[in-house]
Amino acid sequence: MKLAGTRRKTHQVKIDHVVIGSDEPVLVQSMTNTDTADAEQTASQIKALADAGSELVRITVNSPQAAAKVPEIRQRLNDIGCNVPLVGDFHFNGDRLLKEYPDCARALSKYRINPGNVGKGVKGDEKFAYMIHTAAEHNKAVRIGVNWGSLDQALAKRMMDCNLTLSIPQPAEAVMKEALIVSALESALKAENLGLPANRIILSCKVSNVQDLIEVYHNLAARCLYPLHLGLTEAGMGSKGIVASTAALAILLQQGIGDTIRVSLTPEPGSARTQEVVVAQEILQTMGLRSFTPLVTACPGCGRTTSTVFQELARDIQQYLRKQMPVWRLRYPGVENLNVAVMGCVVNGPGESKLADIGISLPGTGETPVAPVYVDGERKTTLKGEHMAEEFLALVEEYIHTNYGEQGKKRQTARVIPITAL
Ligand code: SF4
Repeated sequence: MKLAGTRRKTHQVKIDHVVIGSDEPVLVQSMTNTDTADAEQTASQIKALADAGSELVRITVNSPQAAAKVPEIRQRLNDIGCNVPLVGDFHFNGDRLLKEYPDCARALSKYRINPGNVGKGVKGDEKFAYMIHTAAEHNKAVRIGVNWGSLDQALAKRMMDCNLTLSIPQPAEAVMKEALIVSALESALKAENLGLPANRIILSCKVSNVQDLIEVYHNLAARCLYPLHLGLTEAGMGSKGIVASTAALAILLQQGIGDTIRVSLTPEPGSARTQEVVVAQEILQTMGLRSFTPLVTACPGCGRTTSTVFQELARDIQQYLRKQMPVWRLRYPGVENLNVAVMGCVVNGPGESKLADIGISLPGTGETPVAPVYVDGERKTTLKGEHMAEEFLALVEEYIHTNYGEQGKKRQTARVIPITAL
């Protein structure tokens, strides 16, 4: 496998304050699951997603009620200082909604159009043209988002029929994968011919199988210069969804393919929608492509740890650091590069703690009940007693203030490593 190859060169698409493509950082995108007609709930979820680190947020625009509320949602976000670009997800009636709700057309930063769900024949062409003209008129970007589950059936049939006339026909699955790519590329060309500049177009071809996704995107990437949005559609719930998305996205990102990503997790009942943002960030951060939140290095624990103290400490610290990030990002620039180690015993504890910016090595079974703390490789203090967790958190805060505060020597702007530099 090609390792850490050159980032694929693309057109660059500017959407409000963000730029997508080429050597720009790979951006994290997410999508709401609220009813867009409920402006209060939707704005609140968008704010939560943006605070978690989503750099673009997509919302469903599926009805007149939803379209009517989009300007209010934008205004509510502006009023609380949240400038995250909004992407409108349009399907069967997108042309009508954009026509009847021009303020909605203006309030969105980007339109997502699924060529398979626009309509058939001449009527479909007219609807597609209307949406593209509206985007061009308002200077908006468009993602042409093809999806395996809603592939343009007329195109699929045309390609299947053509395949049957070949002396050696391709397997049906190969034709369908090619149809996904052709649908995206033909629609993009159509959009350009309708007057939308190439640097306003992003493509995606989502499927739900990891190997298919990798194959389709390799192919698509080689055949165009549009930035690509990556995502494994219908990834699923819990660890399955996380693992499948990570497997697919990591391989493509490693090969320089992908300019925005979304992890399409099915939320567990009652769990936060922001989990998909956290997973997307962790994919990029653990690959060394971007930094978002201080990382906690923790050992898995083993028979040498009889209590859950170190597991709880690792969890509490990770949660605490993530929760502080919306404020710390501004107050302590560079803090996202902090490494904290929480280890379960002296076997690997001191070594990992010394490598981290700040680390604690908790006592394992049979060890003296003390926990040495290392700061920048040097032993700083030893904690003991019931309040080790709180005391360690206080030391982490002190470290952050000292090193990333106004006079801090580690203070810096966000570190972004272009893949070419790896
Ligand atoms: S550091 Fe200690 S507690 Fe953690 S896994 Fe290694 S041996 Fe076990």
